[in-house]
Amino acid sequence: MPISRLLGALCAASMLTAPAFAQDYPERAITMVVPFSAGGPTDTVARLVAERMSADLGQQITVENIGGAGGTLGAGNVAKAEADGYTLLLHHIGMATAETLYRNLAYETLDAFDYVGLVTEVPMVVTARKDFEPSDFPAFVTYVKANADKLTMANAGIGAASHLCGMLLMQALEAPLVTVPYKGTGPAMTDLLGGQVDIMCDQTTNTAQQIKAGTIKAYAVTSPERLALFPDLPTAKEAGVDTMQFGIWHGIYTPRGTPAEINQRLSQSLQKALADEGVVTAMAELGTTPVPADSATPEALKAKLESEIARWKPVIEAAGVYAD
Ligand code: ASP
Repeated sequence: MPISRLLGALCAASMLTAPAFAQDYPERAITMVVPFSAGGPTDTVARLVAERMSADLGQQITVENIGGAGGTLGAGNVAKAEADGYTLLLHHIGMATAETLYRNLAYETLDAFDYVGLVTEVPMVVTARKDFEPSDFPAFVTYVKANADKLTMANAGIGAASHLCGMLLMQALEAPLVTVPYKGTGPAMTDLLGGQVDIMCDQTTNTAQQIKAGTIKAYAVTSPERLALFPDLPTAKEAGVDTMQFGIWHGIYTPRGTPAEINQRLSQSLQKALADEGVVTAMAELGTTPVPADSATPEALKAKLESEIARWKPVIEAAGVYAD
Protein backbone atom coordinates (compact mmCIF):
# COMPACT_ATOMS: atom_id res chain seq x y z
CA MET A 1 0.00 0.00 0.00
CA PRO A 2 1.46 3.40 -0.88
CA ILE A 3 2.47 5.38 2.16
CA SER A 4 -0.09 8.17 1.50
CA ARG A 5 -2.95 5.63 1.43
CA LEU A 6 -1.68 3.94 4.56
CA LEU A 7 -1.54 7.29 6.38
CA GLY A 8 -5.03 8.12 5.11
CA ALA A 9 -6.39 4.80 6.35
CA LEU A 10 -4.77 5.24 9.78
CA CYS A 11 -6.11 8.74 10.04
CA ALA A 12 -9.63 7.62 9.14
CA ALA A 13 -9.41 4.78 11.67
CA SER A 14 -8.36 7.10 14.49
CA MET A 15 -11.16 9.54 13.61
CA LEU A 16 -13.57 6.65 13.87
CA THR A 17 -12.29 5.25 17.17
CA ALA A 18 -11.96 8.49 19.20
CA PRO A 19 -15.61 9.58 19.09
CA ALA A 20 -16.80 5.97 19.26
CA PHE A 21 -14.82 5.53 22.49
CA ALA A 22 -16.49 8.50 24.16
CA GLN A 23 -19.87 7.62 22.66
CA ASP A 24 -19.87 4.13 24.12
CA TYR A 25 -18.70 5.34 27.52
CA PRO A 26 -19.19 3.93 30.07
CA GLU A 27 -18.91 0.27 29.14
CA ARG A 28 -17.96 -1.02 32.58
CA ALA A 29 -18.01 -0.09 36.26
CA ILE A 30 -16.39 3.19 37.37
CA THR A 31 -14.40 3.76 40.57
CA MET A 32 -14.92 6.96 42.54
CA VAL A 33 -12.04 7.47 44.96
CA VAL A 34 -12.84 9.25 48.22
CA PRO A 35 -9.59 10.27 49.90
CA PHE A 36 -11.01 9.77 53.42
CA SER A 37 -12.52 6.90 55.43
CA ALA A 38 -15.92 5.37 54.81
CA GLY A 39 -18.75 6.79 56.88
CA GLY A 40 -17.36 10.35 56.95
CA PRO A 41 -18.77 13.48 55.30
CA THR A 42 -16.89 13.28 51.99
CA ASP A 43 -17.89 9.64 51.72
CA THR A 44 -21.52 10.53 52.44
CA VAL A 45 -21.62 13.13 49.64
CA ALA A 46 -19.85 10.73 47.25
CA ARG A 47 -22.24 7.85 47.88
CA LEU A 48 -25.27 10.10 47.41
CA VAL A 49 -24.18 11.35 43.99
CA ALA A 50 -22.55 8.07 42.90
CA GLU A 51 -25.83 6.20 43.33
CA ARG A 52 -27.79 8.65 41.14
CA MET A 53 -25.00 8.99 38.58
CA SER A 54 -24.80 5.17 38.31
CA ALA A 55 -28.49 5.06 37.45
CA ASP A 56 -28.04 7.71 34.78
CA LEU A 57 -24.87 6.26 33.28
CA GLY A 58 -26.16 2.67 33.31
CA GLN A 59 -22.97 1.48 35.00
CA GLN A 60 -22.14 1.10 38.66
CA ILE A 61 -19.95 3.77 40.28
CA THR A 62 -18.18 2.08 43.18
CA VAL A 63 -16.82 4.29 45.96
CA GLU A 64 -13.31 3.38 47.06
CA ASN A 65 -11.98 4.96 50.28
CA ILE A 66 -8.26 5.69 50.21
CA GLY A 67 -7.69 7.75 53.36
CA GLY A 68 -4.45 9.14 54.72
CA ALA A 69 -2.21 12.21 54.65
CA GLY A 70 -5.14 14.65 54.72
CA GLY A 71 -6.57 13.37 51.43
CA THR A 72 -3.33 13.56 49.43
CA LEU A 73 -2.88 9.78 49.31
CA GLY A 74 -6.17 9.17 47.51
CA ALA A 75 -5.70 12.18 45.24
CA GLY A 76 -2.19 10.92 44.35
CA ASN A 77 -3.64 7.53 43.40
CA VAL A 78 -6.10 9.14 40.99
CA ALA A 79 -3.40 11.41 39.54
CA LYS A 80 -1.52 8.24 38.47
CA ALA A 81 -4.58 6.33 37.23
CA GLU A 82 -5.43 5.68 33.58
CA ALA A 83 -7.10 8.74 32.03
CA ASP A 84 -9.97 6.70 30.57
CA GLY A 85 -12.95 7.93 32.59
CA TYR A 86 -13.08 4.85 34.81
CA THR A 87 -11.35 6.45 37.81
CA LEU A 88 -12.82 9.57 39.41
CA LEU A 89 -11.88 11.52 42.52
CA LEU A 90 -14.39 13.22 44.79
CA HIS A 91 -12.45 15.60 46.99
CA HIS A 92 -13.10 18.80 48.91
CA ILE A 93 -11.35 22.09 49.70
CA GLY A 94 -8.31 20.02 50.76
CA MET A 95 -7.45 19.71 47.07
CA ALA A 96 -6.62 23.45 47.15
CA THR A 97 -5.01 23.74 50.58
CA ALA A 98 -2.73 20.68 50.14
CA GLU A 99 -1.03 22.43 47.23
CA THR A 100 0.61 24.82 49.74
CA LEU A 101 0.52 22.73 52.93
CA TYR A 102 2.48 19.85 51.36
CA ARG A 103 5.75 21.12 49.94
CA ASN A 104 6.62 17.62 48.67
CA LEU A 105 3.27 16.75 47.13
CA ALA A 106 3.58 13.76 44.78
CA TYR A 107 1.55 15.50 42.05
CA GLU A 108 1.13 18.99 40.59
CA THR A 109 -2.46 19.83 41.53
CA LEU A 110 -3.18 22.06 38.52
CA ASP A 111 -1.48 19.72 36.02
CA ALA A 112 -2.52 16.29 37.23
CA PHE A 113 -6.32 16.45 36.96
CA ASP A 114 -9.17 17.22 34.64
CA TYR A 115 -12.50 18.46 35.88
CA VAL A 116 -16.08 17.18 36.01
CA GLY A 117 -17.81 19.72 38.24
CA LEU A 118 -18.56 21.14 41.66
CA VAL A 119 -20.96 19.16 43.83
CA THR A 120 -21.90 21.01 47.00
CA GLU A 121 -20.64 23.39 49.65
CA VAL A 122 -21.01 22.24 53.23
CA PRO A 123 -20.79 24.32 56.41
CA MET A 124 -18.67 23.19 59.34
CA VAL A 125 -19.78 22.97 62.98
CA VAL A 126 -17.61 23.30 66.07
CA THR A 127 -18.59 20.28 68.16
CA ALA A 128 -17.48 18.49 71.32
CA ARG A 129 -18.16 15.27 73.18
CA LYS A 130 -21.61 15.06 74.78
CA ASP A 131 -20.43 15.75 78.33
CA PHE A 132 -18.15 18.66 77.44
CA GLU A 133 -18.66 21.26 80.18
CA PRO A 134 -19.39 24.58 78.31
CA SER A 135 -23.03 25.15 77.43
CA ASP A 136 -22.63 27.78 74.68
CA PHE A 137 -19.99 29.25 72.38
CA PRO A 138 -18.82 32.12 74.66
CA ALA A 139 -18.40 29.60 77.51
CA PHE A 140 -16.63 27.24 75.08
CA VAL A 141 -14.14 29.98 74.16
CA THR A 142 -13.34 30.74 77.81
CA TYR A 143 -13.07 27.07 78.77
CA VAL A 144 -10.87 26.07 75.81
CA LYS A 145 -8.51 29.00 76.38
CA ALA A 146 -8.13 28.07 80.05
CA ASN A 147 -7.66 24.33 79.44
CA ALA A 148 -5.82 24.24 76.09
CA ASP A 149 -3.04 21.96 77.32
CA LYS A 150 -5.51 19.33 78.54
CA LEU A 151 -7.85 19.19 75.55
CA THR A 152 -7.65 17.12 72.37
CA MET A 153 -9.00 17.98 68.92
CA ALA A 154 -9.69 15.37 66.24
CA ASN A 155 -9.01 15.94 62.55
CA ALA A 156 -8.58 14.01 59.32
CA GLY A 157 -4.91 14.90 58.88
CA ILE A 158 -3.10 17.99 57.64
CA GLY A 159 -4.96 19.48 54.71
CA ALA A 160 -8.33 18.08 55.73
CA ALA A 161 -11.26 20.41 56.26
CA SER A 162 -11.34 19.53 59.95
CA HIS A 163 -7.66 20.44 60.20
CA LEU A 164 -8.24 23.77 58.48
CA CYS A 165 -11.22 24.60 60.71
CA GLY A 166 -9.35 23.48 63.83
CA MET A 167 -6.30 25.53 62.85
CA LEU A 168 -8.44 28.66 62.44
CA LEU A 169 -10.18 27.99 65.76
CA MET A 170 -6.91 27.48 67.63
CA GLN A 171 -5.43 30.62 66.06
CA ALA A 172 -8.49 32.70 66.96
CA LEU A 173 -8.54 31.41 70.54
CA GLU A 174 -4.74 31.35 70.84
CA ALA A 175 -5.20 27.85 72.21
CA PRO A 176 -2.75 25.23 70.88
CA LEU A 177 -4.73 22.03 71.53
CA VAL A 178 -3.29 18.56 71.07
CA THR A 179 -4.52 17.37 67.66
CA VAL A 180 -5.35 13.74 66.94
CA PRO A 181 -5.26 12.81 63.22
CA TYR A 182 -7.47 10.11 61.68
CA LYS A 183 -7.85 8.86 58.10
CA GLY A 184 -11.19 10.61 57.98
CA THR A 185 -13.68 12.16 60.35
CA GLY A 186 -15.90 9.05 60.17
CA PRO A 187 -13.62 7.20 62.64
CA ALA A 188 -12.91 10.51 64.43
CA MET A 189 -16.66 10.83 65.09
CA THR A 190 -16.67 7.34 66.63
CA ASP A 191 -14.03 8.53 69.11
CA LEU A 192 -15.86 11.80 69.79
CA LEU A 193 -18.99 9.78 70.57
CA GLY A 194 -16.94 7.53 72.81
CA GLY A 195 -15.35 10.52 74.58
CA GLN A 196 -11.80 9.54 73.55
CA VAL A 197 -11.33 13.03 72.02
CA ASP A 198 -12.84 16.30 73.25
CA ILE A 199 -13.45 18.56 70.24
CA MET A 200 -13.91 18.33 66.48
CA CYS A 201 -14.83 20.82 63.80
CA ASP A 202 -16.45 18.98 60.91
CA GLN A 203 -18.97 19.26 58.09
CA THR A 204 -22.70 19.13 58.81
CA THR A 205 -22.77 16.08 56.52
CA ASN A 206 -21.09 14.20 59.39
CA THR A 207 -22.33 16.09 62.41
CA ALA A 208 -26.00 16.98 61.73
CA GLN A 209 -27.51 13.62 62.68
CA GLN A 210 -25.45 13.40 65.87
CA ILE A 211 -26.33 16.97 66.87
CA LYS A 212 -30.02 16.23 66.30
CA ALA A 213 -29.73 13.04 68.33
CA GLY A 214 -27.99 14.91 71.15
CA THR A 215 -25.03 12.55 71.09
CA ILE A 216 -22.52 15.41 70.63
CA LYS A 217 -22.59 19.10 71.57
CA ALA A 218 -22.56 21.85 68.93
CA TYR A 219 -21.34 25.39 69.54
CA ALA A 220 -21.12 27.40 66.29
CA VAL A 221 -21.32 27.12 62.51
CA THR A 222 -18.88 28.50 59.93
CA SER A 223 -21.55 29.64 57.43
CA PRO A 224 -22.18 33.38 56.95
CA GLU A 225 -25.79 32.92 58.11
CA ARG A 226 -27.34 30.62 60.71
CA LEU A 227 -28.48 27.26 59.31
CA ALA A 228 -32.17 26.51 58.82
CA LEU A 229 -31.41 23.09 60.29
CA PHE A 230 -30.00 24.53 63.56
CA PRO A 231 -31.45 28.04 63.96
CA ASP A 232 -30.28 28.26 67.57
CA LEU A 233 -26.62 27.74 66.72
CA PRO A 234 -24.74 31.04 66.29
CA THR A 235 -22.34 31.60 63.43
CA ALA A 236 -18.73 31.76 64.58
CA LYS A 237 -18.59 35.29 63.17
CA GLU A 238 -21.62 36.37 65.18
CA ALA A 239 -19.94 34.94 68.26
CA GLY A 240 -16.83 37.04 67.65
CA VAL A 241 -14.57 34.68 65.66
CA ASP A 242 -14.79 36.29 62.23
CA THR A 243 -11.86 34.35 60.71
CA MET A 244 -13.98 31.20 60.75
CA GLN A 245 -16.32 31.91 57.88
CA PHE A 246 -16.04 29.38 55.08
CA GLY A 247 -17.73 26.40 53.47
CA ILE A 248 -16.23 23.11 52.39
CA TRP A 249 -16.75 22.77 48.65
CA HIS A 250 -16.57 19.41 46.93
CA GLY A 251 -15.69 18.61 43.33
CA ILE A 252 -15.26 15.61 41.05
CA TYR A 253 -12.01 15.20 39.08
CA THR A 254 -10.56 12.78 36.56
CA PRO A 255 -6.88 12.12 35.79
CA ARG A 256 -5.40 14.68 33.34
CA GLY A 257 -5.80 13.51 29.74
CA THR A 258 -9.32 12.12 30.15
CA PRO A 259 -11.22 12.80 26.89
CA ALA A 260 -13.24 16.04 27.13
CA GLU A 261 -16.37 14.21 25.90
CA ILE A 262 -16.15 11.89 28.89
CA ASN A 263 -15.75 14.74 31.38
CA GLN A 264 -18.78 16.39 29.76
CA ARG A 265 -20.80 13.18 29.95
CA LEU A 266 -19.92 12.84 33.65
CA SER A 267 -20.79 16.50 34.23
CA GLN A 268 -24.24 16.03 32.63
CA SER A 269 -24.79 13.01 34.81
CA LEU A 270 -23.67 14.95 37.90
CA GLN A 271 -26.11 17.76 37.04
CA LYS A 272 -28.96 15.23 36.85
CA ALA A 273 -27.93 13.68 40.17
CA LEU A 274 -27.85 17.08 41.87
CA ALA A 275 -31.32 17.95 40.57
CA ASP A 276 -32.75 14.66 41.86
CA GLU A 277 -35.36 15.26 44.55
CA GLY A 278 -34.00 12.46 46.72
CA VAL A 279 -30.50 13.96 46.65
CA VAL A 280 -31.82 17.48 47.39
CA THR A 281 -33.82 16.17 50.36
CA ALA A 282 -31.00 14.02 51.71
CA MET A 283 -28.58 16.94 51.46
CA ALA A 284 -31.04 19.31 53.16
CA GLU A 285 -31.27 16.89 56.09
CA LEU A 286 -27.48 17.09 56.31
CA GLY A 287 -27.41 20.90 56.27
CA THR A 288 -26.35 21.44 52.67
CA THR A 289 -27.66 22.01 49.13
CA PRO A 290 -26.40 20.83 45.74
CA VAL A 291 -24.71 23.46 43.55
CA PRO A 292 -26.74 24.80 40.60
CA ALA A 293 -26.30 23.04 37.24
CA ASP A 294 -23.96 25.69 35.84
CA SER A 295 -21.51 25.03 38.68
CA ALA A 296 -21.51 21.27 38.15
CA THR A 297 -19.29 21.82 35.11
CA PRO A 298 -15.58 21.32 34.32
CA GLU A 299 -15.11 25.09 33.81
CA ALA A 300 -16.64 26.03 37.17
CA LEU A 301 -14.58 23.47 39.11
CA LYS A 302 -11.35 24.53 37.37
CA ALA A 303 -12.02 28.19 38.20
CA LYS A 304 -12.90 27.30 41.81
CA LEU A 305 -9.76 25.22 42.35
CA GLU A 306 -7.52 27.93 40.89
CA SER A 307 -9.11 30.69 42.95
CA GLU A 308 -9.05 28.61 46.16
CA ILE A 309 -5.36 27.73 45.75
CA ALA A 310 -4.68 31.48 45.39
CA ARG A 311 -6.93 32.27 48.38
CA TRP A 312 -5.37 29.82 50.86
CA LYS A 313 -1.70 30.08 49.80
CA PRO A 314 -1.00 33.38 51.62
CA VAL A 315 -3.05 32.27 54.66
CA ILE A 316 -1.05 29.05 55.02
CA GLU A 317 2.26 30.74 54.31
CA ALA A 318 1.51 33.41 56.92
CA ALA A 319 0.66 30.69 59.47
CA GLY A 320 3.87 28.87 58.51
CA VAL A 321 2.22 25.49 59.10
CA TYR A 322 3.36 22.80 56.68
CA ALA A 323 2.79 19.06 56.51
CA ASP A 324 6.47 18.19 56.01
N1 ASP B 1 -14.45 15.83 56.85
C1 ASP B 1 -13.15 15.29 56.77
C2 ASP B 1 -12.17 16.40 56.74
O1 ASP B 1 -11.79 16.77 57.78
C3 ASP B 1 -12.86 14.31 55.75
C4 ASP B 1 -13.74 13.13 55.72
O2 ASP B 1 -13.59 12.21 56.49
O3 ASP B 1 -14.58 13.12 54.85
O4 ASP B 1 -11.75 16.86 55.72
